Parts: sequence; C-alpha cells; structure tokens
Amino acid sequence: MALDPARTVAELEELRQLTGDEDGAQRVAWTDTWERARDFLRSKVAATGAEEHIDEAGNQWFTLRGASDRALLLGGHMDSVPNGGWLDGCLNVLAGVEVLRRIAADGQPPLTVRLVSWADEEGARFGRSLFGSSAAAGSMRDQAELRALRDRDGIALPDALREHGVDLDGALAARAQLENAAAYLELHIEQGPVLESMELPLGVVLGTFGVERSRFTWRGQAAHAGSTPMDKRRDALAGAAKLALYIREIASEVGDGAVCTSGDVVCKPGIVTSVVETAAQLLDQRHLDAEKLARMLAMAREAADRFAAEENVEVEWERIWSIEPILFDEVLIALADESVCEVAGASHRLPSGPLHDAAEVARAGVPTVMLFVQSLRGLSHTKLEDTKREHVELSVRALDSLAAKTLARLA
Ligand SMILES: [Zn+2]
Repeated sequence: MALDPARTVAELEELRQLTGDEDGAQRVAWTDTWERARDFLRSKVAATGAEEHIDEAGNQWFTLRGASDRALLLGGHMDSVPNGGWLDGCLNVLAGVEVLRRIAADGQPPLTVRLVSWADEEGARFGRSLFGSSAAAGSMRDQAELRALRDRDGIALPDALREHGVDLDGALAARAQLENAAAYLELHIEQGPVLESMELPLGVVLGTFGVERSRFTWRGQAAHAGSTPMDKRRDALAGAAKLALYIREIASEVGDGAVCTSGDVVCKPGIVTSVVETAAQLLDQRHLDAEKLARMLAMAREAADRFAAEENVEVEWERIWSIEPILFDEVLIALADESVCEVAGASHRLPSGPLHDAAEVARAGVPTVMLFVQSLRGLSHTKLEDTKREHVELSVRALDSLAAKTLARLA
C-alpha cells in the first residue's frame, strides 16, 4: 500500500467531526471525548496488525513487530486544550498511522516500529503538561504535588486518572516502554510564525529552549503623588520599567533566537495617588544554548542592580523555575534535513519555544528529532489554528521519508 497523505487530512477532518464542536477541539485528557479519540485511533490502526497496549501512565502504544526488538518510535498526542485546533498533537499521531500502514504493507520491518499517543501532553485539566511522556522518561518527580491537583470541579487528579485505568503511584512503571527505543520521531505544527515568514512548509527542530524564570522584587518608598518632588522619589516601578525595556538589548546582544519576556509587574500600593513602593516583576528568558541562557540571566541581574542604584531602590532576585535546553540528535537532524529537502525542496533548522513530548524522550537519552510544519498566522491552541492542506500532506511525506531513512540507518 502506497503512502496516502490525503487520507491523513480526511482522517483529521473525521476526528474534528467526532471530537470537536463549533468552538474547536474538545479532546481534553482524562475525559470521555478523549476516550472517543483513543477509540478512533484504535479503529484506524487495527488494519495494520499493530498490537495495542496502554501503559501504566495511560500512553496508548501500537507495536508492529520487526526483525529486531530495537524500536523506532513515532509519537504525538491525541489530547487537546479546550477549544483547541484540528492539528495540534493529532497530526503527529495520524501521520504516524499513515506511516505505520506503509511500513506494514512493505512486509516485516528490520526494527520494531511503535506509534505512541502520549497521555495528557497539554495538562489542560490539571495544569501539569507532559504527563505520560515524563512518566515514560522517568523524569516525573512531582507525584506528591500531582496527588494534590484538582480540576475546576474539585475532582482530584488521581481520581480522574483512575477512571481511565491509571494508578498515579504506578505511572512511573511506564519507563519500561523506552527500554528498547533506538530513535524517536515527532512531527508537529510549528505553533509560531517563523516558517510562514520564510515561506517554507517544513523545518527541522534543533531542540527545545532552556528556560529561566525569575521574579525581581523592587522596593522603594510609597509617597504622595502630589507632595513628593520628582527628585525625592524612590519609585520601585522605575527600576522594573528600565529592566522591562533593557531585556530587548539582552536578547539582541546574545542573539541566536534569544527571547526575553517581562510578563507581569504587580505594583503596590497600586493606586493612582502614590509612588510605587513595591513592584514584583516576572521575567522569562529562553535560549537553546545553556551558556548563552546563563549569560542572559547574568545580564538581567547585573542590570537590575544598576537600575536599583540609579533609582535609589532595592531589588531582590529569585528563581521561580528553570529547565535546561534539550538538544535533539545530530544524526537524526541531518536525516530530517534530507527528508524535508526531498519533499519540500528546502529545509530550515529552528529551535522550539514550546516544550514537547519529544523533549522528555530526548531527556531520557533516546536519540530524538522533530519536524515542524508551517502554522498559518502562527496560531495554535485556538480553533483558528490552521495549516494549508498541501502542507499537511507534505508533512506526512516528510515523516514517512524520515522514518524510512532512520530504519535504514538503524537496521
Ligand atoms: Zn502539541
């Protein structure tokens, strides 16, 4: 059976009819609609003869036995955010189904080939993303916190999981699934504007950004807006304002895709008649290079001390959260470049701002690469999310070509 990328588009439409409404996709993990999507996937894979297995973390696996136990993994996620798009996550899975069909039709593959739909990539219901992939990767270390999570209706995460056959305490046993993994491939929509702006349908992902999240707390003195002369003020917001603009210089000086965002500043007393006494400022910095990321943070902290001195205020820094950059496999990146060039004429290498299941798999030591397909207007996590039909089809071809090259390389 030859690869039929148009069938993937038709199946994505079918899934949209089955699990979406006028507001978009509603396949939130650990819900009945998500189960309907998993049934749909089961029905589509059945004809390939791949065996289904749901692991301890709720990940849905389909295994096509090959000559060797070593496995090529293809993955994505059937879950969506509420009111989500028609491609995020499920494109990867349904493109994987098409590739599985082609491989099954060609006879026994040299390696075992496994398609996985990771459980709860989005974390939409309980606020914890990458549930299934982090369990399989062995990097889930927050089970005590997970136990306490509740959804908007007060239902505890362990109870919701149990309804879908998952015991939170046993979820880490999913680790066994990656034991024989030789490579992991994931196709995803870009969810950003880079490929569209370059007029390229497809790109190869170098890795996922490292992230440094900080809180800068600026402390000055509250004082009457009418009676305090301008040169007598200790205005906490002035320091925060200087830093909010200076991060542009940090990003442009460090370069190579560096991004910095001052996403929030909370001022106290926060009234129109007072100079700001405290300003709590959040900063998010991202880079694919760990050293450059460290430099970006150091620059922000030095500048904050300087601005505090200039404004006669105090500043305190604390780290809220951080994650190291996760780099994908160089050999697979080169193969992916070849595949993208073959199907689309040109390729581009780019980092991923969002985290993906692929980052967890790479963290677990499995050679990994991702393909991105262009997103129209860079939109995602909305029903407006879209990709041209012909680009969706090209992305299926690229994933198939990459799977074939990877199998040949590993055989
Ligand atoms: Zn996704």
